[in-house]
Amino acid sequence: MDFDLSKEQKLWQATVHAFAEKELRPRAHEIDLTGKFNWEATKKMGPLGLLGMMVPEEFGGSEMDTLDVAIAIEELGWGCGSTALAISAHNGLGCAPLANFGSEELKRQFLPKVVSGEGKLAALALTEPGGGSDLKGSIQTKAEKKGTDWVINGSKMWITNPGVGEFVITLVRTDPDSDTNAYSLILVPIDAKGLHVGPAEKKMGLNGSMTHALSYDNVTVPEGYLIGEEGHGLKYTLQTLDSGRVSIGALSIGLARAAHEVSMQYAKDRKMFGKTLADKQAIQWMIADAATEIKAARLMVYHAANLKDKGKPFTKEAAMAKLFASEMSERVCRNAIQILGGYGYSREYPVERFYRDTRLMTIGEGTSEIQRLVISRLEMAGK
Ligand SMILES: Cc1cc2nc3c(=O)[nH]c(=O)nc-3n(C[C@H](O)[C@H](O)[C@H](O)COP(=O)(O)OP(=O)(O)OC[C@H]3O[C@@H](n4cnc5c(N)ncnc54)[C@H](O)[C@@H]3O)c2cc1C
Repeated sequence: MDFDLSKEQKLWQATVHAFAEKELRPRAHEIDLTGKFNWEATKKMGPLGLLGMMVPEEFGGSEMDTLDVAIAIEELGWGCGSTALAISAHNGLGCAPLANFGSEELKRQFLPKVVSGEGKLAALALTEPGGGSDLKGSIQTKAEKKGTDWVINGSKMWITNPGVGEFVITLVRTDPDSDTNAYSLILVPIDAKGLHVGPAEKKMGLNGSMTHALSYDNVTVPEGYLIGEEGHGLKYTLQTLDSGRVSIGALSIGLARAAHEVSMQYAKDRKMFGKTLADKQAIQWMIADAATEIKAARLMVYHAANLKDKGKPFTKEAAMAKLFASEMSERVCRNAIQILGGYGYSREYPVERFYRDTRLMTIGEGTSEIQRLVISRLEMAGK
């Protein structure tokens, strides 16, 4: 936590940390077991600015730098992986494309409610049952123009937040003939007739962040619910994912830090062969590697965030930060279980939950393989 942050950034970090410690940590175990969303804490996030971090102030948001967003998401991830994922998806996937590309009218209609904490959350539906990595090749969901409406048919898979959502921005095919400009983003209110939200999927972790299949059965929305320009959906999506990857990197660091702290405390307390575990070199090395990798990941996340804030290209750096931070977090959480031995594997300690939660980070918002693809393409193109 000792990166050279400004006074304001440190204050923001301390504020979100205190919030996570008070509102998220104490309930993280319970919501993992029950699969209940932490609405109580989420409602309190509105006034703190945590629900509109990428939304301009004129629409009720707190419009923060990407670095401030990363700082906040790391702290939320430290407090509770489930809630942090829902809030990261709400800000970065649900609100951001509307704030960045939507019409004034649409922003005015939908953003103030979801950023205030009085409404529900926002979601982005890209992935389909046919696959998430190859978006272009797998999007079957179609929207057809009928008079002044869009009529949407199809299905989506693995979508975060619709069960606690106000609207879901949906990637659809709007031109069956074109290859390049075939896709668009359309806002669909969750209560739209014909939109069916499936039950929360049963998952390995992140149980307090609900993930749903969606089906669209002649869902009809006004033409003004199109985000930005028709045919630009894929471009908007890729830009949205670049920023989202910075957040997933930050979330991974929060989970790794939480596991690292528990494992250090345990190593100091646990006596074995006449000394504490912390005296054993094998344990010291795991602690040293964790500390080093957490710091390296944070520098990468902050660097990608900084580039974006300066208006510079950051696609490669965001992919690198996400790749490294998510794989690092898995290693750190895995070793935390190792340090705690049998207790690490039991639910008595939270490290097994951190491990289950962080496992998603190498999959969601582009798998590790896709990050490597993005990095190698840009690297070989000299970018
Ligand atoms: C908890 C959770 C929350 C999610 N939230 C959202 C959400 O809010 N919105 C949303 O749209 N989606 C969401 N997703 C979906 C997620 O983005 C996808 O799962 C992810 O993009 C991978 O897609 P897939 O599962 O279809 O795997 P596939 O694309 O089928 O990939 C399967 C495997 O093949 C590998 N692979 C694919 N292509 C290549 C290649 N070219 N080279 C090498 N390997 C390759 C992948 O890396 C992966 O290991 C969520 C998923 C989960 C589990």
